[in-house]
Amino acid sequence: MKCDKCGKEAVIYQRYSGMHLCAAHEIADVERKVKKRMRQEKMVIPGDHVAVGMSGGKDSAVTLSILTETFGKRPEIKFTAITIDEGIEGYRNFSIPKVKELCDRLGVPHVVVSFKDEVGCTLDDMLKRERKEASCTYCGVFRRMLLNKKAREIGANKLATGHNLDDDAQTVLLNVLNGDVERLARLRPSRIQEGLVPRIKPLMDIPEREIALYAFLKKLPFYLGECPYAHESLRGEVKDMLNDFESRHPGTKYSIMRGFDSIVDCLKEKYRQVPLEKCAICGEPSIDKTCQGCKLKQRIHIKI
Ligand code: SF4
Repeated sequence: MKCDKCGKEAVIYQRYSGMHLCAAHEIADVERKVKKRMRQEKMVIPGDHVAVGMSGGKDSAVTLSILTETFGKRPEIKFTAITIDEGIEGYRNFSIPKVKELCDRLGVPHVVVSFKDEVGCTLDDMLKRERKEASCTYCGVFRRMLLNKKAREIGANKLATGHNLDDDAQTVLLNVLNGDVERLARLRPSRIQEGLVPRIKPLMDIPEREIALYAFLKKLPFYLGECPYAHESLRGEVKDMLNDFESRHPGTKYSIMRGFDSIVDCLKEKYRQVPLEKCAICGEPSIDKTCQGCKLKQRIHIKI
């Protein structure tokens, strides 16, 4: 197949747009969409120090690469990569070197924060103590907390993550399936909360498979393996279902997000953002007197 823009050999057929694109035009298309969204939402402005959550996978590699290509020559905008090492044997020990390689290539400082040092226990050890919930639930509580804490400590005023179109469409569907409509409203936070570094998601309009293709075409170092606990989550099932639906009805993921964006203001009106307080134990932002992390630590007998 030939590229619809230049006639060179196509590397992708975007079924949702009906376009065949060559490598150069696919790269340009991804970058155009990311830059448009960043402009629309003023995601990065002069004076920003942006912390970028880096797992070592394709999404975070593409996020950091596009951010530094777009703003890297502007001295008034600073980037720092943060990796959370959950302590997952056979996974993080392979992905962290990929983050280091990319950060060295792009000249971005890189900080690694480990569960072992900060929480007092690796995720693997935590799961040996208790398995009442899916592994991602234990992991997510501490990963979110540590990412925010470290971003705040290094003085970052934004926290960029590699969430893509598929991730957000899955989250919408997951919350509907769980009947957790209130959580849906939190997908688009309405105001800045003390202690929480505002998040930005530059890849939110890009389908996952195009991010993978972009990472390959740009020869970015990233780890292809999957977390050994990923299969346990309901998200995995939703992902398969959504991909199946997308292949039969191209554009489904974009439609889900369009539909969600048209009702999100009503949801935010109904479920007002609750002001956060400081956890009485660790001082991190929390909805209750004790944060989720400290509650979990008490439950599974990790020293506080
Ligand atoms: Fe943590 Fe789950 Fe992600 Fe693995 S898949 S890193 S357990 S959130």
